[in-house]
Amino acid sequence: MSDCIFCKIAAGEIGKLVYEDDYVAAFDDLNPVAETHVLIVPKKHIASLNEIDADEHGAMAGHALAAAAKIAAERGLTDGYRLVSNCGAHGGQTVMHLHFHLVGGRAMGWPPFPEE
Ligand code: AMP
Ligand code: ZN
Repeated sequence: MSDCIFCKIAAGEIGKLVYEDDYVAAFDDLNPVAETHVLIVPKKHIASLNEIDADEHGAMAGHALAAAAKIAAERGLTDGYRLVSNCGAHGGQTVMHLHFHLVGGRAMGWPPFPEE
């Protein structure tokens, strides 16, 4: 998708990738919420989790999950980490290219909205 920022980053046109394979690319989040905050995205544009088709995107999804574990290991996140994909307005999605937030380096609570 020509006007999509994450398509451009995944294609290596702008920014810096920290991981890539045939299906997914990963890069550091512009506004990190923890010491490690990496975004893992499909190389082919998909707007959100709502567009996932198991047959069409199964390999990509598997590669995204494997990439998360690999990057976490490389970053030394032996105490754990979190993998999140915000979907739609209530999910807090602001960039309409599917992405998984890999966040680690500090302990995080649950639920994610403790003030409510
Ligand atoms: P979400 O709110 O789940 O859609 O997450 C979007 C994420 O993309 C946010 O954490 C932003 O900080 C991050 N982001 C937006 N633009 C860029 C960019 N050009 N490079 C890296 N991260 C970005
Ligand atoms: Zn895109």
